Amino acid sequence: MRKAAILGKPWEASETTAVAGQCLCGAVEIEIDAPARWAWHDHSSATRRVHGAAYATYVGSWRRRFRVTRGQADITRFKDEATGTTRSFCARCGTPLVYERARSAHMVNIPRALFTGRTGREPRYHVAIDQLQDWTYLGEPLVPLKGFPGVVWERPTRNPTRNSTRKKRGPSSGGWS
Ligand SMILES: [Zn+2]
Repeated sequence: MRKAAILGKPWEASETTAVAGQCLCGAVEIEIDAPARWAWHDHSSATRRVHGAAYATYVGSWRRRFRVTRGQADITRFKDEATGTTRSFCARCGTPLVYERARSAHMVNIPRALFTGRTGREPRYHVAIDQLQDWTYLGEPLVPLKGFPGVVWERPTRNPTRNSTRKKRGPSSGGWS
């Protein structure tokens, strides 16, 4: 338990509670006992592809503190033999549900976005940060795009050195690419 204490801030025992999550279509519902063990951002290419996103934020839970509360029959799995990882999805809507690693048999990793409530851990850690994509939004200032309500954009910088501070991976992208 010493490691768990290092990985996150203390959590009052009286605050321990079940936190529910679900897939996009609602067929699958899951639950973990909070606090989760830890939480992190995963920038690896495999996770990027699976989520179709710049990176994914995971909450790691002890397996015994994780439950599928609805829709077990709607869960499908993909095992990557090369890496020893297994990823589960909702067979109806495709939402990634659980990411398991053979080398961490007692842990299950769940996309943070499935939960609406607090999980008891802040995602302060990064995995594969060397694979951070140059198109990842990092909080740059945004302004409304004229004529497109609800759309904001990052104005091209006048400072040519700004983009060079990002790690370049593959062709540079801009705008809507
Ligand atoms: Zn679903």
